Parts: sequence; structure tokens; C-alpha cells
Amino acid sequence: MTQRPPIPNPPYTGGCLCGAVRYELKARPLAVNACHCNDCKKTSGATNVLMLIADSAAFSASGETHTYLSTADSGRVKEIKRCAHCGVRVWHQNLASPVLVFIAAGTLDDTSWVIPASHIWVERASPGVLMQDDAIKVEGQPADRKILMDALTAIYGAAP
Ligand SMILES: [Zn+2]
Ligand SMILES: [Zn+2]
Repeated sequence: MTQRPPIPNPPYTGGCLCGAVRYELKARPLAVNACHCNDCKKTSGATNVLMLIADSAAFSASGETHTYLSTADSGRVKEIKRCAHCGVRVWHQNLASPVLVFIAAGTLDDTSWVIPASHIWVERASPGVLMQDDAIKVEGQPADRKILMDALTAIYGAAP
């Protein structure tokens, strides 16, 4: 079984490489998801993007950002936010569902507890990727993100 440290209590803080962009998330993430789609590979330069999916109302950020609008094959438009100085991809939002924010987990100040509970676009996963035995694996984009949230709750329990 995958060894998983507990999810620490909020808040969670993070930022870009140069420190110009900082953020705070005041609520436990709703999902911890790894996306293996081609857009995530290109926009991060990594083989996948591990992200916290969270309530936008609990998220705040400071510092100058650059916005890139990326249109998926599905037609969904994603607003990718990067630091205007160092270019690090910090978070994104989908214009169709702005109630959620997707925080690139590598930008957290403490990444020690972040292990995916779900993987999506697994048919495009790089062969070097580790997939936890207890995480759910979804081909393509799930029609409803609730299954990603249910996957987190199934592993860690409901938010305290
Ligand atoms: Zn920066
Ligand atoms: Zn993706």
C-alpha cells in the first residue's frame, strides 16, 4: 500500500520560483489529482501536472501574473496563471467553472504530503510515472470532477 502522510490542516501557502507571486489556500483541497494530458505536459515542461483542486473562495494570491488562455480539444478554455517575472506555472482555472482553482502542487511551500488520489488522462501517461495502488485511474477527462473528490475522501476521510 502507498504510504500516505495525513493531509495537514489549512492554510497551505506557496508561490513561484522568484517569490513575486505568493498564494494562500484556507481550506483543505477537494482533490489531489495528477493530469497526464498533453497540454499539461507542454505547459509545465514536466511529464504531468500534480494539482490541488480547491474552492476558489478559499484561495487568494498576490503578485503580478501572466495569463495564458489554453483551449482544450473539448473546447474548454483554461486560464493558466504564471508569475510575470520567473514564468512558473502556479495555478489555473476553467472559465466554465470558476468556483474551482487548480493549484500546481510543486509550487507549495510544503510538498511533503502531496500524493495523488486520482490520475486522469492515464492513457497518455509517461512510462516513468508512478501510479499509487490506491489512487483511481481515469482515461481521458472525467465528465464529472466529483469522482476525483470522492477519491480523496475515500483515502483520507471527510474533511475535519
Ligand atoms: Zn516568480
Ligand atoms: Zn491536463
